[in-house]
Amino acid sequence: MTLALNLGFPRIGANRELKKAVESYWKGNSSQDELLTTGKELRAKHWKLQADAGIDYPPSNDFSYYDQMLDMSCLLGAVPARYNWSGETVDLDTYFAMARGRQQDGHDVIAMEMTKWFDTNYHFIVPELTKNQSFKVASSKIFDEHQEAKDAGIHTVPVIIGPVTYLSLAKSSGEDFDPIDLIDDLVPVYADILNRLYEQDAPWVQIDEPCLCLDLNDKQREAYKKAYAKLAELAPNTNIALATYFEGIRDNENLAFSLPVATVSVDLVRYPNQLDSCIAKAKETGKGLRLGLVDGRNIWRNDLSTSLEKLEKAVAELGADNVQVCSSCSLLHSPFTLESEDALDDELKNWMAFAVQKLDEIATLAKGVNEGRDAIAAELKASDEAQESRQNSTRIHNKEVKDRLATTTPDMAQRKSVFAERAKIQREKLGLPAFPTTTIGSFPQTQEIRKARASFKKGELDASAYEQAMKDEIGHVVDYQHAVDLDVLVHGEPERNDMVEYFGEQLEGFTFSKFGWVQSYGSRCVKPPIIFGDISRPNAMTVKWAEYAQSLTKKKMKGMLTGPITILQWSFVRNDQPEELTAKQIAFAIRDEVVDLEKAGIDIIQIDEAAIREGLPIRKEDWPAYLDWSVEAFRICASGVEDSTQIHTHMCYSEFNDMIEAIAAMDADVISIETSRSQMELLEAFEKFKYPNEIGPGVYDIHSPRIPSIEEMTALLEKAAKVIPVEQLWVNPDCGLKTRGWAEVEPALKNMVDAAKEVRQKLAS
Ligand code: GLN
Ligand code: ZN
Repeated sequence: MTLALNLGFPRIGANRELKKAVESYWKGNSSQDELLTTGKELRAKHWKLQADAGIDYPPSNDFSYYDQMLDMSCLLGAVPARYNWSGETVDLDTYFAMARGRQQDGHDVIAMEMTKWFDTNYHFIVPELTKNQSFKVASSKIFDEHQEAKDAGIHTVPVIIGPVTYLSLAKSSGEDFDPIDLIDDLVPVYADILNRLYEQDAPWVQIDEPCLCLDLNDKQREAYKKAYAKLAELAPNTNIALATYFEGIRDNENLAFSLPVATVSVDLVRYPNQLDSCIAKAKETGKGLRLGLVDGRNIWRNDLSTSLEKLEKAVAELGADNVQVCSSCSLLHSPFTLESEDALDDELKNWMAFAVQKLDEIATLAKGVNEGRDAIAAELKASDEAQESRQNSTRIHNKEVKDRLATTTPDMAQRKSVFAERAKIQREKLGLPAFPTTTIGSFPQTQEIRKARASFKKGELDASAYEQAMKDEIGHVVDYQHAVDLDVLVHGEPERNDMVEYFGEQLEGFTFSKFGWVQSYGSRCVKPPIIFGDISRPNAMTVKWAEYAQSLTKKKMKGMLTGPITILQWSFVRNDQPEELTAKQIAFAIRDEVVDLEKAGIDIIQIDEAAIREGLPIRKEDWPAYLDWSVEAFRICASGVEDSTQIHTHMCYSEFNDMIEAIAAMDADVISIETSRSQMELLEAFEKFKYPNEIGPGVYDIHSPRIPSIEEMTALLEKAAKVIPVEQLWVNPDCGLKTRGWAEVEPALKNMVDAAKEVRQKLAS
């Protein structure tokens, strides 16, 4: 029989119960017992939901109070020394200290590093290992949770992150070394875990090895072979279900199928092309094959007919007992359920599936292959109809948008003159000093601003009162910038709740869920907009605010927009056309906005591409294609204007050594980047590659409440001036100021302007 399986379930709860419970515990408003009780209730509910839906063996240990990689570090006893942990098992407060740092009794212990989980918007806690790191089983969570489910009558498959992925994502602490070298010490602890689970009646364990979808080096490949051979030897009774996801295993196919594991699961949503070769490999090696057919990280309804064909094909080749159907990755990356979405209309809802609906899809597919198509005739019919309704809907297809894209010519992605020409014209028109100062866009989002926006949304504040509130705020922000003598001003973005949502709400082709929360890190959740159709811009989106702000000053006001790749990256994207096309549609909408801003007298326009790096494909060989279309999308936005209009962009990271050519190809007149934390480390990239246009390396770290001194920032600027010609340098903070308070921002920007004046004196006269 073909089993219905699921790689992981969202733990945050239908109403973000876990978020609320954890935050209340952190604040000291509830006890540890209360938190543990909420966790237990959620797990029980989620297991039952999955079992009732027809999932044969739901996962356990996919639950987490913060993050599954952090759980792994605790399970393996890899707790950095600064947390002063010496117990047998890692207690909850040590666990949270690792996640968030600890400030107590004069002690100030920083948190472990957090970074993105592959190409998702989920962030994990990076394991921190020393050269002589020792490991031991130091948490009972995985055992307890398996038992807990069993007591409730549900047999689960415990899930852990595999040893090679764990070490590949770890960083060294203290003496520099490659964490993968610890593999021999680590594997026996994994074996212990498997054996203990086996003793408590868990003959199957799901071991996640998403790193099998990456470009591996020889050392990693060796580690895979060694680790799994040793595991098979030390824990011979356990059946290992090896899980790969987020990409195809491609050139690692031989490796994956050569490991002594019982089954391999593959992501057929991200990489459908691997079906045939994986069937062949499974046949050759006698392994079970798990087909990840239901998308774990997007919100679209499964095309059951197409999926069933694939499943039938695998079953015909391998036999029903050797084939299982599952989600493409953990459903952690999906929102909880569509049921509560009462504001989405039925047509749109009929095209979607959130985590709970995905369980039904998996179970239906298993039933269809086990009992025949007739057994799921109604579901197939409904699925076919939904696919058809989506394909043909007039709400999705906008002829004008399609026509416009079809007639794109290369010159639309080309400024009129080359940068050197433009720079001359712009310099004359803008009349800025050397080392011009500016900010990234947002100013502190105070309680009052948030309140005004919320009341307006709820209908408690009328349009004119709201507009006045925003204008007052803009006036305040402009006054302040005058007082501190910044050169290029901004309006402060008070009207924006979020840099993507703000635009999504005004563009056609977007919709929004009410409860579609997805965990981003720890207790933080995001509710991404949903791009369902062709994108167009019925009205100007930012012009009125920019115009008003410009009317308050003789200095230059910078218009502020979000770029197409960032909008794409932070939304649920339609899956019925290549992302490239969706990006281009957004690009034309933004281009129109840029042109309208220019017409309204705005001479400097910033198009933020905070997320262009995050979108980089998992496999290097896919990078050039992605960079090509994402750079083109940006250039389409930027190229509708005269040479005299200065286009800025902003990026929220500093490691771009490996993509600096693409960034140069975007041809923004000015780019601002995040560098202050890394002490201008990124400038290395500029030593090797002569970045041609102007650049503002962030000198004020806005992620910290610290107020940087004039000397500090002067030093950073002087450092930058050693690598980048003075005429090319701008002075600005790291990122937007919206998360900061005025009390910090005021003195910090004052110092920044003073630092700019100092280096101007010293280096540019
Ligand atoms: N303009 C945006 C702001 O200042 C940019 C934010 C970002 O890069 N994440 O808030
Ligand atoms: Zn930023």
